[in-house]
Amino acid sequence: MKPAPFHYAAPDTEEQTLALLHAHGSEAKLLAGGQSLVPLLSMRLARPSIIIDLNRVKTLDYIRDGDGEIRIGAMTRQRNAERSSLVTRRLPLLAAALPFVGHLPIRSRGTMGGSIAHADPSAELPAVLVALGGSVVLRGVEITRVVRGEDFFVSYLTTALRPDELLTEVRFPKHDGKGIAFLEIARRHGDYALVGVAAVVTMDENRCAQARLVFTGVGPTPVRIPEAEMALAGTVLTDAVLADVRTLVAERAAATRAMQPADDLSDHGHHGGEI
Ligand code: FAD
Repeated sequence: MKPAPFHYAAPDTEEQTLALLHAHGSEAKLLAGGQSLVPLLSMRLARPSIIIDLNRVKTLDYIRDGDGEIRIGAMTRQRNAERSSLVTRRLPLLAAALPFVGHLPIRSRGTMGGSIAHADPSAELPAVLVALGGSVVLRGVEITRVVRGEDFFVSYLTTALRPDELLTEVRFPKHDGKGIAFLEIARRHGDYALVGVAAVVTMDENRCAQARLVFTGVGPTPVRIPEAEMALAGTVLTDAVLADVRTLVAERAAATRAMQPADDLSDHGHHGGEI
């Protein structure tokens, strides 16, 4: 199928983008890497009256070493983040997760901000953002808000972004020195995973002082399982402790999935209507 007709604008600056968003509100859709939006347009699951192309807005493409965090501009390609030595050194969880995002050509076009704004519950980057306690910068015509990842993801493909706001930056706290892992189970490498987990562990000698576990593909947003995190905190990570945590995770994930309208979110069955 072909997309429904739409107007097209290609602003050069964030200010011009915000003026267009302000004028068109929910009739507009921002185009970043197009890796999720273009298929939705072609299937007519999205029918905006105007597409605002962000690809000429060069101020949104950067990776900066900030105060305790790494700040990544929304239009930074996922592949450029994957190849960044700053990301490899300071954000090992993000570095571990990025190769799981689709295939190389998808990461070469797909952007950091696009993946976070799209908010697919099976996607890797939203889970990494929540696991690290990171945040996003949302710029409107009048105010700019900084929203924690945990508050940003509201439901399936739904975020705290208002129709006239632009996601300008993603902030990840530096976490070199902590234990990290990103694991997932997918039918084939590069497919959206059936289930995945982002884990960050702080050790105090031989004990786990603190853990954060965030799962993809089990609920409408990235899902934290606090009871499993608490079961790990303060313990020596013996096989018995890990077995208990596995049981807690399996029970909670099954309960969360049972509440979902779709059997398997990774099948990407849309729940009708437009996105
Ligand atoms: P777009 O598709 O351009 O936009 C996506 C949405 O975000 C749109 O609604 C758009 O309006 C909005 N948006 C974009 N940028 C902004 C912004 N700055 N401010 C506000 N709103 C914005 N992703 C995964 O995470 N894991 C996978 O395994 C995976 N596999 C894939 C396999 C295939 C075959 C394909 C085609 C895609 C796959 N993707 C996967 C999706 C890919 O990662 C996309 O890059 C990502 O979901 C969207 O990023 P984008 O830059 O392409 O955004």
